[in-house]
Amino acid sequence: MIIELIKADITTIEADAIVNAANSSLLGGGGVDGAIHRKGGKAILDACMAIRNKQGKCDTGNAVITTAGNLPAKYVIHTVGPVWNGESERNNELLAACYRNSLMLAVENDIKVIAFPNISTGIYHFPKDKAAEIAIRTVNNFAQKEKIEKVIFVCFDDKNYDLYLQRLGR
Ligand code: ADP
Repeated sequence: MIIELIKADITTIEADAIVNAANSSLLGGGGVDGAIHRKGGKAILDACMAIRNKQGKCDTGNAVITTAGNLPAKYVIHTVGPVWNGESERNNELLAACYRNSLMLAVENDIKVIAFPNISTGIYHFPKDKAAEIAIRTVNNFAQKEKIEKVIFVCFDDKNYDLYLQRLGR
């Protein structure tokens, strides 16, 4: 498994799947979620609503998969990060679960290249340094990593990009 780091808008990435930092409603929101639904179009929202009708809301740490609509990626994997409410092992574990469950869905759907945003580090206020550490560690420790060809960490803001760069090198 190759790990790549880029600074970009994730809606422009031509991966098999891009991951959305969704909320549990699955019906769209601000930040990266808003951008994905805006550029991906109605097909993504329709697919999210179909999932909601079938299984209800998406719990924090879980992930679901839909079409990517008009985006260059094939699929969107929507995962719900924890809202930061202070240091706790539970928050760390829930954020790790987002990465793990997204990767598991990728394997189940034969996805080889997957792009992650910096889940929970925007509106959900998870400390960026801690989130970067958890993201990189969880991807590196993924049990079926040989089934994924490439993980792309897509940073949008300078702070996240610098934190990942420190940990991953060039
Ligand atoms: P959360 O609610 O999980 O915190 P946000 O969307 O508010 O989700 O922020 C998560 C991260 O996504 C932040 O680091 C933010 O800089 C980044 N982000 C926002 N828009 C985009 C985008 N278009 N592409 C990639 N990352 C984005």
